[in-house]
Amino acid sequence: MSYVVKSDGAYSAAFQCLIGLLTGDTASPGFWNIYFADFQLPHHESDIRLNGRPVCQLDQADDECMFTTDATTLQYKMDNFYGWSRRKFMFISPPKSKIMIFGPLPAVLPIFRIGAEVIEVVPRFKYVGIWFTSTHHNIFAAHYAEKASKARKVANATFARVKTHLGSLPVREGLRLYMARVDCYLISGGEISLDVVSRLLEEHMEVQQSFLRRLLGLNSSSLLSILYTETGHTPIKIRRLLCALSRLRYLLTLPLSEDRIVRDALLDSFSLYRNGKASCIGDICFVLRRLPTPIYVTEDELSNDDSVKAIMERVEKVLDADLQYDIDTFDRTHLLKNRVEHIDEGEGRSRMGLVTRRRRHYLDVVIPAHRKAITRLMLSDHNLSVERLRYPGRYRTAAPRHLRLCRFCRSAVEDEVHALLVCTAHDSLQPLRERFLRDIMDQAGGFDRKWSADKPYDFLRLLLSMRKITQRLAKFVADMLAVYDSHPRYIPAVLYLPAAAL
Ligand SMILES: [Zn+2]
Repeated sequence: MSYVVKSDGAYSAAFQCLIGLLTGDTASPGFWNIYFADFQLPHHESDIRLNGRPVCQLDQADDECMFTTDATTLQYKMDNFYGWSRRKFMFISPPKSKIMIFGPLPAVLPIFRIGAEVIEVVPRFKYVGIWFTSTHHNIFAAHYAEKASKARKVANATFARVKTHLGSLPVREGLRLYMARVDCYLISGGEISLDVVSRLLEEHMEVQQSFLRRLLGLNSSSLLSILYTETGHTPIKIRRLLCALSRLRYLLTLPLSEDRIVRDALLDSFSLYRNGKASCIGDICFVLRRLPTPIYVTEDELSNDDSVKAIMERVEKVLDADLQYDIDTFDRTHLLKNRVEHIDEGEGRSRMGLVTRRRRHYLDVVIPAHRKAITRLMLSDHNLSVERLRYPGRYRTAAPRHLRLCRFCRSAVEDEVHALLVCTAHDSLQPLRERFLRDIMDQAGGFDRKWSADKPYDFLRLLLSMRKITQRLAKFVADMLAVYDSHPRYIPAVLYLPAAAL
């Protein structure tokens, strides 16, 4: 596309425009706006009013949407649009045009036409990237389903392609790919569609959880909280709520000098909320109240940008408090308790403290097998008996902790510290341990005293906290757990169910 600019009767040299949408050209939207500027549907009594302002048309470039509450009026508006298009030499495509009827269907379905062509009535349609449905009490139900399905396909394709080319997806890059390719589908519509129907969000949550589990190499039965405490990510339900609050802040700060329909929509929503009717503001209050630790807000708090910002901070704090509560109370998170991290306070200062959500250093171990081994150790998702005998099996009951005995020595509980640092009942264990200790003493030094002075469990915690030795420690964990994996688990006879119970 070449341009020539005329100014005061003088013409510029022809020049090319090389930026803009591939489907059009840089100047196209502007030309379209000029062309379309005189199209304005007349208002009617039956039109929807937002804060008293009649609204009956939406224009997104050449995607036109018109609506009202009465079939005859809608047909009148369609005729008006058709007449305008004929005068302006524009063609409206009847097959691409659709009608939706929200609310109870009339006994006789009205027929709508553009010119002589009948327009199809559909139960769902996508307008400006959002799917609307008229056959579900939540008009965004189809949007939830469509986006969750796309997110799942993209997530699966991401792992499949990486496996073909790389073998295993590193965690840091995996999290970036998640944010770039999957998250966008999961948060789609979240700023306007509050998740008041939990069931609609179930697949979104499942897609996010399975992506993070797969990336970390965890089983489908792993704890949920650790997916967020270890990666720094936010559960999708909270992330969408924050999107909605962020959108509210944007609406609250729109300049009064701008005449915006969306401000009327916001004021209308507040009015509906005051009158006890369903509204976006009411939905925000409902979702906040339904958090695991409920947050109660007033209309005044939602009317002010600063207080909405404070609500968003409260949401994050509540999330972190809930996640931290899980870490502090579950048995399986014992290696994550009381963990301190560097906290950057700016201007070159930092301090050590509790950080509930962060991508942890051990996830950066380079060799995938080693990384998965140390991750599963940290998150109690390994194959040692202390975990695997915690739950009942097909032919046995769940074992109390004191019966989850080591498969080699059968004299102590087969837990992380016993397997890694204590047991000597298999020939391979002690040489692997000695080699590891020699290596880290060369690498970091100062372990002699700590090894002799500290209890094995404390020593294991110390090892796990030392970033300098993480790569070597991960290899050690992988080697040791491989020795255990290569031998059948010891299951005390008392755990087996009697034949009659099978
Ligand atoms: Zn043992």
